[in-house]
Amino acid sequence: MTTLTIATRNAHKTREIRELLGQACKVRDLSTLPAMPVISEDGTTLAENATLKALGIARLVDGLILADDSGLEVDLLGGAPGVFSARYAGADATDQQNIEKLLKEWQNQAASGGDRPAARFRCVMVLARAGEFICAVEGVVEGTIVDPPRGLGGFGYDPVFQPVGYDRTFGELPAEIKNQISHRARAIEKVREFLLLA
Ligand code: IMP
Repeated sequence: MTTLTIATRNAHKTREIRELLGQACKVRDLSTLPAMPVISEDGTTLAENATLKALGIARLVDGLILADDSGLEVDLLGGAPGVFSARYAGADATDQQNIEKLLKEWQNQAASGGDRPAARFRCVMVLARAGEFICAVEGVVEGTIVDPPRGLGGFGYDPVFQPVGYDRTFGELPAEIKNQISHRARAIEKVREFLLLA
């Protein structure tokens, strides 16, 4: 069975990717490889950062490497926090602090009125092996930002993101539903097709 190493220390991402791939392959992440360096994510796009992470680890670890770089884009904020989603409120910001900053920025912009802002989660995944880039795929899910946050599930901005067609946020929806429609689910579907995983 293929072993896929996810170039992340984010246990939430690994859990979702493992759920999404099911029995198709064995999934591990950098928590099992503590000697791996921290790859600085100083690219200006999700694709650049995913490529940096995938190649950085693929130069050091055998087998297939998968990197996921993802973010939330809010139209009213000109696409922010985007590539800066993880550190929107500062280098070591918690999910809670990032959400607070997002809602504050939205309220500032929304002073002129308007509906819930349109937003989307975007995920770029890059596959690499033996230091070589293999492919990049993307998945997107459209939705709106809600205030106050709702739900305790998921991670990151899930409590403030309500996908189109649902009246619950990703924080409220069961993991099985998020895993059917999320940006990550859509990207992993393309990875599956690429790797011809059943
Ligand atoms: P990175 O891909 O490690 O640079 O960070 C992605 C950041 O985007 C995370 O820390 C979260 O704040 C946010 N994010 C990415 N995917 C999700 C998701 O599925 N739900 C909620 N937030 C997410």
